[in-house]
Parts: sequence; structure tokens; C-alpha cells
Amino acid sequence: MSITVVGSIAFDAVQTPFGERERMLGGAASHFALAASMLDQVNLVGPVGDDFGDAEMAVLRTRGSNVDDVEHVSGGRTFFWKGRYHDDMNTRDTLDTQLNVFEHFEPKLSERSREADVLFLANIQPGLQLQVREQCHAAKFVALDSMNLWIEIARDELEQIIGRVDCLILNDEELRQLTGAPTTVAAAREVLQHGPSIVVAKQGEYGAMLITADDFFALPAYPLERVVDPTGAGDTFAGGFVGLIASRLEHGLDRDVLRNAMAYGTALASYNVERFGTEALASTEIDGAAVRRRVEDLWRFGRFDRLDVALRA
Ligand code: AMP
Repeated sequence: MSITVVGSIAFDAVQTPFGERERMLGGAASHFALAASMLDQVNLVGPVGDDFGDAEMAVLRTRGSNVDDVEHVSGGRTFFWKGRYHDDMNTRDTLDTQLNVFEHFEPKLSERSREADVLFLANIQPGLQLQVREQCHAAKFVALDSMNLWIEIARDELEQIIGRVDCLILNDEELRQLTGAPTTVAAAREVLQHGPSIVVAKQGEYGAMLITADDFFALPAYPLERVVDPTGAGDTFAGGFVGLIASRLEHGLDRDVLRNAMAYGTALASYNVERFGTEALASTEIDGAAVRRRVEDLWRFGRFDRLDVALRA
């Protein structure tokens, strides 16, 4: 199977308690592709500007990702995002967002990208996500991410696109903001009434929850003593999650596939946050064996044998 992803391809400026970077490769689609390419073939869709060089393009091509639909907009500048993390690393302030080449972008997908079996609509304007969704008729599994900004300024389009996907992956706080529901589980149940059959609530360092009509599953984040830069953790998680699903889709989606998808997403995200930006997932140090080791650890951390406990009530 193959996966098409549309979303931001960016330069990020990031400050964390461990240091800062003025301008590093980032973007939701870039982080997603680096993770998903560990599991399946990826086609990237999105515009970049004159400031996007060969070195950045080479990173996007990691593990054979297809960059034919990464459009160079002559005279334009690449999407730019600047953020500062608080000391707990779980919260951040956005200091600047410049859409630049995304402002007038009209995605026209090549046949190869259009024909993909799996589509991931990474975080970008919901209007663009809708345009890409229209073009990918062949997609058998479509997942979507978004963020508070689009809930605030493009709610109508966001609701339209949510109605046209199989899976919504969103931060727990954003799920509550989207639905007005008081808890994450209630928010997920609300979303399940509007199209998607799977909801994943991301909870930063606390992990992620998976909610379907008849199942519930939760995994903590992989326990790390040192987190250097959480930027892209959510997109890397989504890359592992959707990548695993793509690699198994021909055999059908069942409970075990979804739970393994959660584990691979979690393991890949844990490597991402140990280095700045795309550094970890673009390096050859993080290979299949490394990812499998952390998946195995997650399985060990979560399992327990039930004792026959005598309760006093
Ligand atoms: P995450 O940490 O997984 O939420 O994703 C961080 C990435 O999202 C960064 O690399 C940014 O370039 C990108 N990003 C931040 N704000 C936006 C936005 N408004 N639209 C699209 N991508 C964004």
C-alpha cells in the first residue's frame, strides 16, 4: 500500500529549556513522512519557497518518500512557525505563524499521489484538506489532524472535512474545544456521530487514547528522562499510527492492528522528542530494530497478570 500526506512543510524556530534553533526543517507533513516511511511508501504533497534548499529536500526523501508533488513556488517563502516551550515541555506558546506559500496553494496531485490507498490530511487549512480529499477517490483509509487555530477561524470547513474521514487524530484539549464536551471520552463519542469510526486523542507526555464505537485503548507516552524538543511529536505519532495501518490494510483493520498502530506511533514519537526537529528520524541510528525495542518495552510496561483479590465490599 502507499500513503499520501498533505500538510505543512516548514521552517521552524524553536526555544526549549534545552536550547534553541533559529531555522530548522519542520512542518506536520515532514514529521509525518519521516515516521510513516519506516512502515510504508509515502507521497508528500505541499508547496515550498525559494528558501527551501537541496539539503531539506534530501531529508524529505528519506526512505524513498516521493517528493514529485512538493511544489516549488518561485518567488515564494516556505511556511514558517515559531514556538517556545514552557519548562514542563508539555505546553507551548506559538510566537509566529507565516503561511507564506500555503496562502495561495491549490493542490494538484499527480496520479501516483491520487491513487494512494491511504491518505493523511496533516495539519493545514481545512479548505486545502478538503481539496486533497476530493482528488483522492481511491483512498480506503483517510485520517485527519488539525489544531486550535483552525477550530477558531475555519470551523465550517473543518466540520466538513471531519465528515469525510475514517479517523480523527487530535489533542484531547482540541477535541473538547471542537465539540464543547466536558471530557475527552464524551468529545470522542460526539465525533463518532459525525463520520469518523476511529478517534485518537493525543495527550502529550501522558500518551494517547483510542476510541471507537465498541472499543477503548490507551497507552502512556514512552517514559523518557530527557525530552529535548517535543515539536512534531504529534505528527510523528500520526506517521507511525497511519503507517502501521497502511502496512496492514490489505488484511483488514481489526483491534490488534489499531492497538499496534498506537504502539508504533508512541515508539516513533519517543525518538522524535529526544533530538531537535527532524534530526532523530532523519538519522540512520533510528532503525527498525530500535523502534521494535521500544514497542516491546511498551508491551511489557502495560501488561499485568490479574490477581484474585479479596475485596471487602
Ligand atoms: P506538533 O508538535 O506535532 O503539533 O507539530 C508541530 C509542527 O506543526 C511544526 O513543525 C510546525 O511547522 C507545524 N505547524 C505549526 N502551526 C501550524 C499551522 N497553523 N498549520 C500547519 N502546521 C503548523
